[in-house]
Amino acid sequence: MAIWNLGSINADLIYAVPHLPTAGETLAATAMDRFLGGKGANMSVAAARAAAHVRHIGAVGADGGWMVQRLLEYGVDTRHIARLDGASGHALIFVDAAGENQIVIFPGANRAVPETAIQAALAEAGAGDTLLIQNETNGQALAARIGRDLGLRTAYAAAPFDATAVQAVLDDLDMLILNAVEAAQLEAATGLSPAALPVRDVIVTLGAEGARHFDTVSGEFRDYPAVPVTPVDTTGAGDTFTGYVLAGLDRGMAMPQAITQAMRAAAIMVTRHGTADVIPDLKDVLAARF
Ligand code: ATP
Repeated sequence: MAIWNLGSINADLIYAVPHLPTAGETLAATAMDRFLGGKGANMSVAAARAAAHVRHIGAVGADGGWMVQRLLEYGVDTRHIARLDGASGHALIFVDAAGENQIVIFPGANRAVPETAIQAALAEAGAGDTLLIQNETNGQALAARIGRDLGLRTAYAAAPFDATAVQAVLDDLDMLILNAVEAAQLEAATGLSPAALPVRDVIVTLGAEGARHFDTVSGEFRDYPAVPVTPVDTTGAGDTFTGYVLAGLDRGMAMPQAITQAMRAAAIMVTRHGTADVIPDLKDVLAARF
């Protein structure tokens, strides 16, 4: 089986600055780093590290060849990533000496994924495959509808949260993954608690508290405590969790086992600095002694 991930691909451009710039100020950075990021790319890498066959659907600009190459090196099938004119998605991240940051994201090619590319990719999908979408690209509604028509397991990691975008696809989903803030925002927008949503499986992640899985068919929920670790950088924990859950389900695990394994992977992730480049692989997760 395969996981088809319609998702963002961002260059994270990180500049060390003596202090965060104020309006009108020109500042020289003291160091610069460039990393692969974006929720979509992170989830693709996580699922690939969890031994799933991942096919990424998305777009980069003329400057994005290195990111496609990086995804390929991480085991992601990149044949359905469109190459567009203009800029790739990127995040300008300023970090001062105290670790405070300022971030500006330019979506670029991520918001210009050609509909024909989405259709062409999913024409290769088969029953039993998984479709994953998030909110950093265009085309979610189209992909979700195709996913439903083909009988794919269609999962939505609804971040960054957008109530209109979520409501547009709710009826086409099998699975919804939200953090606690997003779950509260969705409840405020729809008046529906997670247990009342028209989606079979809803997972609400709760940071250091773990996660809660709602089986909306039976009306029951189950809590999963987080693995106790000392976090150094929680960036990418949610993306690692999502990639691992879907990879586990795709590889035939039952939901409790898939969630438990994903929490172990996310726990390792929060003990590491960085994003896509440091997502743990299955070997690390299986070998970890917490
Ligand atoms: P992010 O936006 O930082 O990627 P998120 O808000 O989408 O994260 P969280 O709910 O913070 O998602 O975390 C996802 C999962 O990661 C949690 O369900 C948990 O399993 C794990 N996790 C997060 N923080 C911790 C922590 N401090 N200790 C152990 N596990 C953690």
